[in-house]
Amino acid sequence: MARIVVKFGGTSVANVERIRNAARHIKREVDAGHEVAVVVSAMSGKTNELVGWVNEASKFHDAREYDAVVASGEQVTAGLMAIVLSEMGIQARSFAGWQVPINTDDAHGAARITGIDPTELDKRMKDGWVPVITGFQGISPHGRITTLGRGGSDTSAVAVAAAVGADRCDIYTDVDGVYTTDPRIVAKAQRLTKISFEEMLEMASLGAKVLMIRSVEKAMAHKVRLLVRASFDDPDAPQIAPDGTPGVPGTLVCDEAEIVEKQIVSGVTLAKAEAKITLRDVKDNPGVAAAIFGTLADKGIIVDMIVQNIADDGATTDITFTVPDSEYDKAVKALEDNGGRFEYARLSGSKGGAKVSVVGVGMRSHAGVASSMFKALADKGINIQLITTSEIKTSVLIDEEYAELAVRALHTYYGLDRQDA
Ligand code: ADP
Ligand code: ASP
Ligand code: MG
Repeated sequence: MARIVVKFGGTSVANVERIRNAARHIKREVDAGHEVAVVVSAMSGKTNELVGWVNEASKFHDAREYDAVVASGEQVTAGLMAIVLSEMGIQARSFAGWQVPINTDDAHGAARITGIDPTELDKRMKDGWVPVITGFQGISPHGRITTLGRGGSDTSAVAVAAAVGADRCDIYTDVDGVYTTDPRIVAKAQRLTKISFEEMLEMASLGAKVLMIRSVEKAMAHKVRLLVRASFDDPDAPQIAPDGTPGVPGTLVCDEAEIVEKQIVSGVTLAKAEAKITLRDVKDNPGVAAAIFGTLADKGIIVDMIVQNIADDGATTDITFTVPDSEYDKAVKALEDNGGRFEYARLSGSKGGAKVSVVGVGMRSHAGVASSMFKALADKGINIQLITTSEIKTSVLIDEEYAELAVRALHTYYGLDRQDA
């Protein structure tokens, strides 16, 4: 007998029929004698609709009320799932974040989970109940509903799994695992049977939205093994494990030590809508970078890639960095109205960049991945605007127009294409 937390994303609970299909997966686990807790997202499209309504009501709304509205989608699916499970003869009860409680800080709209009291969930599961918990939400120290940021139900699921000491956390979604790249962009993408936490964290950070970044961080910190699998599979089909043994299909996200065959490159990711900003002839004094990026941080703007050139004259330098397209106007305004914190001659920039990255733990021990990546892009005539690297990834910023071409070219170049496609 195992203790399992299962999470269903928006497309997997998009209507009552799909909720019923998801419930059959839960029933299979319950029938096998496992203790199961469920975390659900809102029906697909629902959260977007709710966010739209809030913005329509007021562009300058209070973040606490945004959360009050936007968290409601998950409450609907949790209740419906509990009803459907009960109808199947399974004792089930819904729990909103505050009822568990899932405690968070008070950063409304992007709250962090600070702790989960497992007492009630633990008791329910031991007594043979299936708790159905709303994803994406919690309760602030002030007793108000918070939400965790888009895609946050993955994080709820991992946090619940860690809190109740689950043996496994199964993430049911609309793809049957984690692929070498987004299967919607590259038809030849292959499903990975296993991927390490570190690689998954990079992939999630670099644009693979199959798992929310924070959920992978949490899984890594608490050593929660994640299984990413499809909810549309027949719940009664034989269960085959990622490594071919009887078990369950999907991709296991686990410790690097569990992976025998290590690839140099495991995946290629794409993040669009990256804006580039360059400050020219910045007065090059100690503290100038802190002043520039402090100005942006004060406005809550997250900066991604940063490049600073060495000044020819020793007095001025150029600094280039990227921010999300949606933050571009805000960033430019903050830099222009910096209140004399730093000086520069000119500001230039543009929206519509794309960040393409290759990720793999094998890069730690293999030289030349970056240079071969640049060569593969050059062969396609794609110009590189910015480069950043870390131990297990290399990222380039290119024109959005060439994004898909670049992803496909790199996928082929690193031998990741599925042979039968
Ligand atoms: P859910 O609603 O279940 O949380 P998401 O839409 O958040 O599902 O995430 C699943 C989607 O992630 C897939 O439909 C796929 O298009 C996308 N995706 C991006 N990169 C990858 C990847 N490397 N492997 C699998 N899916 C990916
Ligand atoms: N419903 C929320 C969203 O769409 C959370 C989630 O689905 O993970 O962002
Ligand atoms: Mg998601």
